[in-house]
Amino acid sequence: MLSQIARDQGIRYFLISFTDLFGVQRSKLVPAESIDQMASDGAGFAGFAAWLDMTPADPDILAIPDPDQLIQLPWQPDVAWMPADLHTITGEPLEQAPRVVLKRVLKQAEDLGYRVKTGVECEYFLLSADGEDISDKLDRQSKPCYDQQSLMRRYEVIREICDVMLTLGWGAYQNDHEDGNGQFEMNWKYADALVTADRHAFFKYMVKAIAQKHGLRATFMPKPFAHLTGNGCHTHLSIWDSSDKENLFYDPQGELGLSQLGYQFIAGVLNSAEALCAITNPTINSYKRINAPATLSGATWSPNTVSYSGNNRTHTIRIPDAGRFECRLPDGSANPYLLPAALIAAGLDGINQKLDPGVRRDNNSYTDPLPAGEAKTLPANLLDALRCLEKSEVIGKSLGKSFTSAYLKLKYQEWQQANASITPWELDNTLDC
Ligand code: ADP
Ligand code: MG
Ligand code: MG
Ligand code: MG
Ligand code: MG
Repeated sequence: MLSQIARDQGIRYFLISFTDLFGVQRSKLVPAESIDQMASDGAGFAGFAAWLDMTPADPDILAIPDPDQLIQLPWQPDVAWMPADLHTITGEPLEQAPRVVLKRVLKQAEDLGYRVKTGVECEYFLLSADGEDISDKLDRQSKPCYDQQSLMRRYEVIREICDVMLTLGWGAYQNDHEDGNGQFEMNWKYADALVTADRHAFFKYMVKAIAQKHGLRATFMPKPFAHLTGNGCHTHLSIWDSSDKENLFYDPQGELGLSQLGYQFIAGVLNSAEALCAITNPTINSYKRINAPATLSGATWSPNTVSYSGNNRTHTIRIPDAGRFECRLPDGSANPYLLPAALIAAGLDGINQKLDPGVRRDNNSYTDPLPAGEAKTLPANLLDALRCLEKSEVIGKSLGKSFTSAYLKLKYQEWQQANASITPWELDNTLDC
């Protein structure tokens, strides 16, 4: 009983939290006195008030929390956070809800005997409280990556976040200053895809909350500064057998230690890459990070082409090590649940069709791009990507028709809305036409 846990652990309030289609976390803050009833009946929300494809006339939706994933906030121990699954008023899972979508895709993997494991690298910037600039005026080198001084000037914030991950047993193992001024990355160990997705959602909340406590503002925005490296959310993936004993992507005889199953999965990801971008790069701003010109540091570290390589960071897919691969497309705006769902859908299709990814490309994609026609290019903007998603049977079918149509509807609306705004660039370049 959650009320008992509350008494034992000194929790006074519970955040029943769900993630909507645009990745926003929505919550009800429920006092311990009401939590048992609320946890079984669900917390009520008006769906239209969040980014879900619903109308103001629709009945309420109910968020039923997953108590196994409860996290007592170490920086605010009277509050505990729980991710929730959305349900209709009649008790069925709401099929368009991101956490429900991920469970649906994981079930497809499970039916094939696969247990999918993922790890994410969530880069972020620490900005001043008003969000107008990076917070550390001394952090100005053109190559600031791994800079010890800049990292240690933010020690208080980084340590507090890392300590939380250590307390929670996530297997946090390193923190660094990243390639953009004011940019950081903190790494924790991979786990089952749903566990990582819940941690990813919580990480974003935690980083913003702890930064705020220190008078700063954290952002995961894909490209907050045009001249600096953007915020990636590289995703590493492997498939294990259902008993969790064997990594089925590992083959010491395979090229770079990756099995045929691994290569088929990669081929599926490359095959659906353009449609995948609608999920891995889901905002207008996402397309300023990929396909971008070199940054102040000399590289964007994000991909331009649909290609794979070994330990080479200029391609969409990198194989850094035996038994797993890294997809470098996703950025900080990717929804923690939809990101793995779409990636797994694309990869399982590669396995089902026994696709072959072709040869590995070892070129430097920035200075020595593949000749035109040798690799597909990535979508140029969100509209391009949404149109690819609309055409993709693979992702649409796996993530579900009600999800895909809801997502496309809201994202097309977002595109229209953004397109209606007149930007400074347009004025600078068109006033004198
Ligand atoms: P890099 O910066 O070189 O891309 P990081 O160390 O920052 O790598 O992140 C690597 C991520 O990959 C971590 O979350 C790690 O736990 C995860 N990872 C390692 N092995 C596997 C695996 N077999 N399956 C899934 N993820 C993995
Ligand atoms: Mg009300
Ligand atoms: Mg990293
Ligand atoms: Mg990084
Ligand atoms: Mg990486």
